[in-house]
Amino acid sequence: MGRVFVMKSAAFEYHRVSSLQEALTCMARYDGQAHWLAGGQSLLAMMNLRLAQPPALIDIRGIPDLAEIRQVGQTIRIGALCTHRQIQDSPLIQATVPLLAQAVPHVAHLAIRNVGTMGGSLALADPAAEYPAVVQALNGVLIAQGSSGERRIPVAEYFVGLYQTALQPGELLTAIELPCAQAGQQFHFDELSRRRGDYGMVGLACVARMNAGVVTDARLSFLAMGDGPLLAVKAMDSLNGQKLDEQSIRLAQQALEHDLHPTGDLQATPATKMHCARVLLGRALAAWRNA
Ligand SMILES: Cc1cc2nc3c(=O)[nH]c(=O)nc-3n(C[C@H](O)[C@H](O)[C@H](O)COP(=O)(O)OP(=O)(O)OC[C@H]3O[C@@H](n4cnc5c(N)ncnc54)[C@H](O)[C@@H]3O)c2cc1C
Repeated sequence: MGRVFVMKSAAFEYHRVSSLQEALTCMARYDGQAHWLAGGQSLLAMMNLRLAQPPALIDIRGIPDLAEIRQVGQTIRIGALCTHRQIQDSPLIQATVPLLAQAVPHVAHLAIRNVGTMGGSLALADPAAEYPAVVQALNGVLIAQGSSGERRIPVAEYFVGLYQTALQPGELLTAIELPCAQAGQQFHFDELSRRRGDYGMVGLACVARMNAGVVTDARLSFLAMGDGPLLAVKAMDSLNGQKLDEQSIRLAQQALEHDLHPTGDLQATPATKMHCARVLLGRALAAWRNA
């Protein structure tokens, strides 16, 4: 008879906090080495696999205000504790941040979307996750709170490597700011995955202004093509100022050769990923052309 191995996490202390100040004070006792517990959808699995062995978990779900979505001028501020489900069901997000609304149904399965949080996903920075690409495409800002106060981190400075962000040990992501959609902007999110709900093999979050078929301010952010979300700068340059037609679409697809250099992973070879990236870009641009 085969053996059954049950993976359990290493022992840890648990604290439930009810204010930001209490959270930071508690974290200071562990010198920044404790982990924040948000939805627990990634962290608890990592702990059970012994990929993470924090001395303590600080449960932040009782902190008020971190699960709010609100509009501040032309910006939407999403609290880090907002669940994927809350974002998916938000009429404000659907009306003002269509790219995020398009992306969120691709995040995992409903059971995980019910508890997993936007802040948890952006803190984890999985290269195949949807939110990093969305936040990069929209040029968002991440708000962090640490012992020395609040920091606003532009997305261009936030993703610094594989599962690595600009968050300092013990810093808490409190909110994400995304600009409201403006007249004339087009948005598109799509990904290719083996099964709906799986992490994407390749994904694309993109935005541009369209005026009489001419593209400006295009931002194309790919997921699962590198260590983090990747802006396809050459393809963006090739599109900006061009009228969308078969030739400009083909040239943008060809430019991806200069932007993306995937190494391949358990899901797909580099060649398959490149093919999927060209397909996704072609679909996005065709949709804008026909809009
Ligand atoms: C089967 C399965 C499929 C999944 N598929 C997808 C998918 O397709 N796409 C996708 O994007 N995700 C997917 N996920 C991950 C899911 O979206 C998680 O919800 C998310 O990655 C982590 O969010 P969480 O709130 O559960 O964070 P937790 O698991 O609680 O925390 C994750 C990490 O982030 C840290 N952290 C959490 N909140 C903060 C904060 N506010 N500030 C600083 N650090 C913080 C924690 O300390 C921990 O290190 C999947 C998960 C599972 C189990």
